[in-house]
Amino acid sequence: MKRTKTVRHNGVWQGHHWIRDDKRLAIYLRDGLACVYCQKTAEPADACVEHVHAFERGGSNHHSNLVTACQRCNARKGMLPLRRFARRIGGGDEIVARVARFTSRQLRPYRIEAKKLVARYGTAARALNAIA
Ligand SMILES: [Zn+2]
Repeated sequence: MKRTKTVRHNGVWQGHHWIRDDKRLAIYLRDGLACVYCQKTAEPADACVEHVHAFERGGSNHHSNLVTACQRCNARKGMLPLRRFARRIGGGDEIVARVARFTSRQLRPYRIEAKKLVARYGTAARALNAIA
């Protein structure tokens, strides 16, 4: 698949459908149910899974490249490299360290928990609503 903006925005990659529901929730759980950049609490209508190294720039969909972000931070970051974005929003090294701490964790235990929650509440959004 070509890594172009078009691919990302043609309806296949856009929105919440490019990642499995339980993986999405597992990322939220791993990151403490908050935006890794501004620390805003993850809410179903606002939270998203963000590529640290932009997908359009070759970043992967592996969990080590994915973090919880609020819509505002996701939009502001765009394709900026992490360090530049972290400096821009005034967090600098602290944000870079937080991202490294979360993305280096094994996702498996969070994925097991997320699967249980999705089974219980039906969707990741409903589960997040119930636990956040
Ligand atoms: Zn944020």
